[in-house]
Amino acid sequence: MITGLKASLEYAKELDKKDKISYYRNQFHIPKDKDGKDWIYMCGNSLGLQPKTTQQYIQQELNDWANFGVEGHFEAKNPWMPYHEFLTDAMAKVVGANPLEVVIMNTLTTNLHLLMVSFYQPTKTKYKIVIESDAFPSDRYAVESQLHFHGFDPKEGLIEWKPRKGEELLHIDDLEEILDHQGDEIALLLIGGLNYYTGQYLDIKKIADLGHAKECMVGIDLAHGVGNIQPKLHDSGVDFAAWCTYKYLNSGPGSLGGLFVHEKHAYNKDLKRFAGWWSHNKKTRFNMRQEFDVMPGAEGYQLSNPPILSMAAIKASLDIFNEVGMDTLRKKSIALTGYFEFLIHQIDTDRIKIITPDNPEERGCQLSIQVKNADKSLHQKLTDHHIITDWREPDVIRCAPTPLYNSFEDVFKMTEVLKTVL
Ligand SMILES: *Cc1c(COP(=O)(O)O)cnc(C)c1O
Repeated sequence: MITGLKASLEYAKELDKKDKISYYRNQFHIPKDKDGKDWIYMCGNSLGLQPKTTQQYIQQELNDWANFGVEGHFEAKNPWMPYHEFLTDAMAKVVGANPLEVVIMNTLTTNLHLLMVSFYQPTKTKYKIVIESDAFPSDRYAVESQLHFHGFDPKEGLIEWKPRKGEELLHIDDLEEILDHQGDEIALLLIGGLNYYTGQYLDIKKIADLGHAKECMVGIDLAHGVGNIQPKLHDSGVDFAAWCTYKYLNSGPGSLGGLFVHEKHAYNKDLKRFAGWWSHNKKTRFNMRQEFDVMPGAEGYQLSNPPILSMAAIKASLDIFNEVGMDTLRKKSIALTGYFEFLIHQIDTDRIKIITPDNPEERGCQLSIQVKNADKSLHQKLTDHHIITDWREPDVIRCAPTPLYNSFEDVFKMTEVLKTVL
């Protein structure tokens, strides 16, 4: 708990003045109301805002396409042939990986499937998959369909790691117990590193250690973690991870996803996988008619030549992340969310409960606020005040103050409106 905080607009503005990265807000398009007043946008967990530089990054590629046609693959300012490589170092830094371990390609759910081709290799006796009971629907459908695909009934093969009765958060001890009892039958743990609903940030390294002790593969979905917390993927030892770039990474609706394959698997050419020409050795790719020669590391998971316009938007965003650095961002994020939490606790009502962990080490920027006897009209009232949050049935508002473009003033004003609409 941070002490000395004050619930006043003056104090919030003072915090903004002291914030060394507050000027990054000016580098984003903040949606505005009719009178030109900024919305209070707390939905970076769903779709991050657009950096002002995105347009010029995309325009550059449109110009090069207009000027060079197919020659743009080599002649463009940023040649398209190796374009994805321009993103790798910055992306690797954001998730704490080596460049060999990371690639930008496809979209999140597609990547989960491609990764499970390699890392979900069930046998008759070791075939079960563990997910969190509150897993994001797409992840659940993906693992259920993988079970079906391999001839297993999800009712049998899917194990849910659940919160205890009357609680919302997960206990790592309960995962340990699942593994103690059924570890010999479990092939894969696929866990959301930062839960989209509760905002709980799980101990990824501990999950990897527990899974590996029972010879299970361990994969992490980082959709809500990337650009938000610092997952140190390489050191955690997880086998694989996947994420999208349109949430905290501000790369535009439906933009490409990212993928991590741990270095320990980088040179294993025996791993089963689905292949395409972009997984093949760059040096001989255009000789065609060559026998397949897979590239080491994450790049060996690519299938197709990638959409450059989407990658340009990702590059615009990653250049900002690279410039600020995750250490600085995370520091501000902890202060900003801490102040938000403090303000919510000042609201004089017993209708509100924050279900996100109160320990900053166990959460990212998001707070999930449960409101007793509320329905979606509460969310509508906030939206009417141009406060953009995310509603989850039955009674939770998810608010994600992001350190790049949200201010201490934003969280103060949001809390004032929440007070009046309650
Ligand atoms: C946002 C999100 C998705 C979305 O998947 P797409 O394939 O990008 O549509 C999947 N899983 C989780 C956990 C998410 O948060």
